[in-house]
Amino acid sequence: MTTHEVEDILTDILERAKVLDPANARKWFEKLTVCRLEGGSLGISCPDEATIHFLQENCKSSFTRAAQQVTGHLVTIDFNLEQHKKIDKTSKLSPHELKLHPDYTFDNFVVGPSNRLAHASCIAVSQSPGKTYNPLFIYGSSGLGKTHLLRAVCFEAQKRYENLVIQFLSCEEFVNKFIRAIEEGNLAGFQSQFRTVDMLIIDDIQFLREREHSQEEFFHTFNALYNNGKQIILSADCPPGKIPSLEARLISRFNWGLVARIDPPSYETRVAIIQKKAHLRGLEISDDIAEYIARKVQANIRELEGALTTLYAVATTTTKPIDIELAQTALEGQIKASIRHISITDIIEVVTQHFDVRLADLQSKKRSQSITEPRQICMFLARNLTKHSLEEIGGHLGGRDHTTVMHACNKISLANESDPKMNALLNDLTKQITNPVKI
Ligand code: ADP
Ligand code: MG
Repeated sequence: MTTHEVEDILTDILERAKVLDPANARKWFEKLTVCRLEGGSLGISCPDEATIHFLQENCKSSFTRAAQQVTGHLVTIDFNLEQHKKIDKTSKLSPHELKLHPDYTFDNFVVGPSNRLAHASCIAVSQSPGKTYNPLFIYGSSGLGKTHLLRAVCFEAQKRYENLVIQFLSCEEFVNKFIRAIEEGNLAGFQSQFRTVDMLIIDDIQFLREREHSQEEFFHTFNALYNNGKQIILSADCPPGKIPSLEARLISRFNWGLVARIDPPSYETRVAIIQKKAHLRGLEISDDIAEYIARKVQANIRELEGALTTLYAVATTTTKPIDIELAQTALEGQIKASIRHISITDIIEVVTQHFDVRLADLQSKKRSQSITEPRQICMFLARNLTKHSLEEIGGHLGGRDHTTVMHACNKISLANESDPKMNALLNDLTKQITNPVKI
């Protein structure tokens, strides 16, 4: 992600906070700059102490909610004086420094029977890159901690070996960079960027399917790195042999090293994860509540985190203490939504029918309004109605990267609030998706 894209996200958070708290926005928010998002904390620069004081007292929950809505994560808010923190536009940030959720470390990863092998192999690889399991292939359903583990490897390896050159990117980013290199006639630059690293980590490699040229390129990158003893780590939502249209020679290479599966977490692991996440955010949460959530939300960990976010948002807006009753009310909607499993395909079907467009158009590069809008609506609905990550949603819609998806979601979400027509349309589409008419 470029510095520019990070700035866009920070701007989105500020814009969202203005929508959530219009009463204070005009007087207090105009002079603010959102300056950084790191370590699960959002830094907001204020012009003076009085503003800091006022915002601390009155607007913290609006900013917390805005940051949650934009990033999908619980974020702590840190108001500070302007001169301290500013994004240095000229500074070069490495890709992993720019990943938005530095909570993803080994310390913050709860180990249980469902993920023990994946966790142990990631630790081993981060301690001796290229020397233990190569390639390391981690797979499991969405929301079970693959990206968390990959990022943890990144942090740990960088900490141990300062000069290690790491490339960490999603499959879409890889493919997009490759396409751009071809368009710009700079394939040599692309190749030297990827074939000379010490560690290449590609998340959600299942999206490499049916893009033959990038498969070919990836194959050569893989060989170059492997032959030089460089570490390769991949993740996917299924084992290598099940990735649709993946060439046999790549499948066999992915199986050369260690293939580790992550299963859905057990009840005990779920309780421990909830406690860990709550603790990370400085939330007081009793064992009863953690156990209640762990019993109710079983599908995956992203949903567990979502449940905690909802609970936290409700608790901060009502100023009530978090008790079982509040937990029940807060989670009611969430639990209902997870009962019927909604897939991106369900969403795409309803949206393409409504707008009379084809899936191929949504996945194409077309940028006309008649295609962009349904595409963005698909992204928004997928973000709200499914448990897929931004990367995965982008993957389904023509290999767009997660910042594009995040922008689409923010744009539609703002339109949803300001434009009654859009609001009615989204409600109608959501109804069709969640309660399909049975013929
Ligand atoms: P995936 O990449 O498999 O879809 P993620 O790595 O994005 O899943 O995980 C989803 C969320 O669940 C993240 O916030 C992550 O921190 C959290 N998570 C997953 N597994 C664990 C775990 N074992 N301990 C703590 N948090 C976890
Ligand atoms: Mg992931």
